[in-house]
Amino acid sequence: SGLTELLRLDSSWVPSAPGTSLYIRPLQLAMDPYIGIRPSNSYQFLIITGPVGAYYAEPVKVKIETNYTRAAQGGTGFAKTGGNYAAALKPAVDAQKEGFNQLIWTDAKTHEFVEESGTMNLMFVINDTLVTAPAGDTILNGITRDSIIQLAKDQGMKVEERPVRVREVIDSIENGSMQEAFGAGTAATVAQIKLIHHEGVDYHLPPIEGWKYSADFLDTLTKIKTGEIADPHNWIYKI
Ligand SMILES: *Cc1c(COP(=O)(O)O)cnc(C)c1O
Repeated sequence: SGLTELLRLDSSWVPSAPGTSLYIRPLQLAMDPYIGIRPSNSYQFLIITGPVGAYYAEPVKVKIETNYTRAAQGGTGFAKTGGNYAAALKPAVDAQKEGFNQLIWTDAKTHEFVEESGTMNLMFVINDTLVTAPAGDTILNGITRDSIIQLAKDQGMKVEERPVRVREVIDSIENGSMQEAFGAGTAATVAQIKLIHHEGVDYHLPPIEGWKYSADFLDTLTKIKTGEIADPHNWIYKI
């Protein structure tokens, strides 16, 4: 395929230091010479690559967004399309000005259910169970989310894909049953969350040093990618 050929051509750009990688970004542009709103008749599909450095994911502080909306039912939240990200920029910048790294998005209708964290899927470990909202209309079906669910099942961990209430998140931090919270996405793989802010109150997660699940998911995924350990699900594609 075109991608395979491109990666062959760019193979000497693949960095080898730990944590580094060759970023691969496909994109598609409308190419009709036309001003107006309608689907284009011609498109250009491009794939660009670039070496990226180690992504040191410092644990993040996130704010639960209960005013703005990233994705609504019947919309395009499930897709990596530009419009989704445009609408998310102002709320994210506002949250950064308040001292948070990113937002936890909630459902558009009631803002009572958590959906994603920034541009990552959102996962929790509650009572040794991996809990995450179901992918769908408003929640992108990320490959990192999928991979972590698989790794959790491989190690016999209980996994629940179900709607997660804001209330449950807050209550389980307060009663100590929430052990870990993290975002899952290609760039950082796992971004641990140390603090969740909701309606004026900061809720602190337990000290990150004691977190075993998310650190282990990151370690296992990294080792599968670099070939250090076996790849039981055939995730690796050799060029
Ligand atoms: C990219 C992205 C993710 C993560 O998807 P991956 O396939 O794991 O990289 C999750 N949510 C949103 C909104 C995204 O844009």
